Amino acid sequence: MSDDAPAGLDFIRQIIADDNASGKHDGRVVTRFPPEPNGFLHIGHAKSVCLNFGVAEENNGRCFLRFDDTNPLKEDQDFVDAIEADVRWLGYDWEDRLTHASDYYEDLYNCAVQLIEAGKAYVDSQTPDEIRATRGTLTEPGQNSPHRERPAAESLDLFQRMRAGEFADGELVLRAKINMASPNINLRDPIIFRIRHAAHQRTGDKWCIYPMYDFAHTISDALEGITHSLCTLEFEDHRPLYDWILDQLTLPHRPRQIEFSRLNVAYMITSKRRLAELIDIGQVGGWDDPRMPTIAGLRRRGYPAAALRDFCSRVGVTKKDHLIEMALLETCVRENLNEDAPRAMAVLDPVKLVLTNYPADQVEMMTAANHPQRGELGEREVPFGRELWIERDDFMEDPPKKFFRLKPGGEVRLRNAYIIRCDEVVKGEDGNVTELRCTYDADTRSGLPGASRKVKGTIHWVSAAHAVSAPVRLYDRLFTVPRPDMDKSGRDFKDFLNPESLQEMPAAKLEPVLGDAAAGAVYQFERTGYFVADSQDSQPGAPVFNRVVTLRDTWAKLEQAALQELGNA
Ligand code: ATP
Ligand code: MG
Repeated sequence: MSDDAPAGLDFIRQIIADDNASGKHDGRVVTRFPPEPNGFLHIGHAKSVCLNFGVAEENNGRCFLRFDDTNPLKEDQDFVDAIEADVRWLGYDWEDRLTHASDYYEDLYNCAVQLIEAGKAYVDSQTPDEIRATRGTLTEPGQNSPHRERPAAESLDLFQRMRAGEFADGELVLRAKINMASPNINLRDPIIFRIRHAAHQRTGDKWCIYPMYDFAHTISDALEGITHSLCTLEFEDHRPLYDWILDQLTLPHRPRQIEFSRLNVAYMITSKRRLAELIDIGQVGGWDDPRMPTIAGLRRRGYPAAALRDFCSRVGVTKKDHLIEMALLETCVRENLNEDAPRAMAVLDPVKLVLTNYPADQVEMMTAANHPQRGELGEREVPFGRELWIERDDFMEDPPKKFFRLKPGGEVRLRNAYIIRCDEVVKGEDGNVTELRCTYDADTRSGLPGASRKVKGTIHWVSAAHAVSAPVRLYDRLFTVPRPDMDKSGRDFKDFLNPESLQEMPAAKLEPVLGDAAAGAVYQFERTGYFVADSQDSQPGAPVFNRVVTLRDTWAKLEQAALQELGNA
C-alpha cells in the first residue's frame, strides 16, 4: 500500500524517521491499533488503522491488533469478529500479532504488586462517591484519602484478597499514589484496579478484579515492545500518567505516546455510543446499515477499501482539530469506481416509450462498451425492442430552453442505439404521463450511414420485454447538518436525522446483465450513479441495488455554505 502514502512526511512519520536515523529503538518500528470491542469500527477508526498499520508497513515494522478488553460488562465476541473482518477488509494483516489486554492480566497484576511494594500504590477503602467527592476540580486540588498512608504490607494483603473475591464491587480499589494536588486530574491518585464480579468473554470467571484502561494500555504497550503508541488528542492529558507508570516499573521496553487529531467528517458522527443509540431506537437497520459511518456500513454501501485508504491518506495526520467535508470522501469513492466499475443501463423511475414504427416482434442486440476508457473490460449485447423504459425526468412536456432531453416534437439519441423523435404524449386521468409514442430513425444505429448524425441529447433506456424489475435504494446523508453532535443550542443529535436518508425505488428497470449481478458487485448505472448489489439482500436472479454515490457532487455548494457558517472555511 505504499502508493497510498502521502508525498511529504506528516509529523508522526517525521518523528519515526528521526528515531530511525538516531537509532533510538535500534531501527525497530512497532505500533498497535487498540480497539475496545464494544461496537463496530467507524470511519474515525479507519484513520487510526491506516496510520498504525501504514507506518509499520512503510518502515518494515510490525503492527499489533490489540483488543482493549478491560471492561467485561460492555464487550462482546460479535464485536471482536466484526473488528477483525473490518481491519482485514481495509487491507491490513496483523499476522501473528493478535493480542488482548486480557492476555496480560497476570502481568498487570504483578505490576500492581510491584507498585504497592514500592509504596507507589495503595488500596483505598473509600466508597466510589467519596473518591469522586475528594477528587477536586479543575481549579481546586483534591484531598488525600485517609487510607493513602496505609502500610504497603496491608495494601498488599487487601489487594490479594480483592483478587481472591473476598470483597464486593466498589468496596475497595487500588490507586496509584501520585499527587492529589496535581493540576492534571489524571494524576490525582488514579484508580488502576477495581472489583467487578463479572464473567469476561475470554477469561471467564478467573478474575474479579480488572485493570483500568490507562494502566492496562501503558503496560501492554511496553510488554509488546511498541515503539510509537499513536492515539488521538483526548489522551494528551493522560500522557503524564502513561510516562509515570513507565517510570515506576521495570519493563522490557519504553514506548512513546504520540497524539494526533481525531477524524471528524461532516454529516457523520463517530461515537460508538451514539451509533448504538441509532440502532436501539430503530433509526437504522444495524451496525452495517449502508447509511452508517461504520466500516461495515460503508462496505455494504459499496465504498471500496482502496477509496477509504485514499481518503485517510488525503486527510493526513496533524494535531489540528478539523472537520473534513464529506465531499472529499465521496470524491475518493467516485475516482476509484470510475476506474473500475463496469457500466450498464438502468431506469430508476420508469415511463413507457413505444416506437410506433418499430416491428412488434423484432429484437435487435445492441453492442455496448463495458467501460468507455478501458477496452479490456469488453463489450456486451443489450436487447432493444419496440417498447422501452426511459427515465421519467428525461422527458418534459413544456421544457425550458436548454433542455436537451426528450420533448414533444424533439429528437434524442438512445444510448448505443437509434435517434428517436417524440410524436405523442399519452396521459392518465391524473394528468401524469403514462406513455410516450415515438418514431425511430432506422438509419442511425452504429454501423449504418446515419450513425454519425448528431442530436444534442443522449438518454439511457431498457427494453421493456427484457427488463429485470428490482428494488433500488437511494441512500443519502443520515443527518441534515454538518455537526449534529455539536449543536449550539444544545439540541440532541437525533433531532437532525435526515428523513430522506433512504428512498426506495420499488421497481427500477434493469438491463438483463444486472439481473445476474453477484452480491457486492458495483456498477455505474449510466448517467445516474454508482450502485452496488446489496451484500445481504441481493442474489443473482433477484437483485437489490444500493446507490453508492451519485455521479456528480450535488451537495458540494450546500456543504461549503454550511461549513463556512460553522467558521470552518
Ligand atoms: P468511540 O468514541 O467511538 O467509542 P473510542 O476512541 O472509544 O471511540 P476505541 O475502540 O477505544 O474507540 O478506539 C481505538 C483507537 O481508535 C484508539 O486509538 C482511538 O484513538 C482511535 N480512534 C477512535 N476514534 C477516532 C477518530 N475519530 N479518529 C481517529 N482515531 C480514532
Ligand atoms: Mg475508548
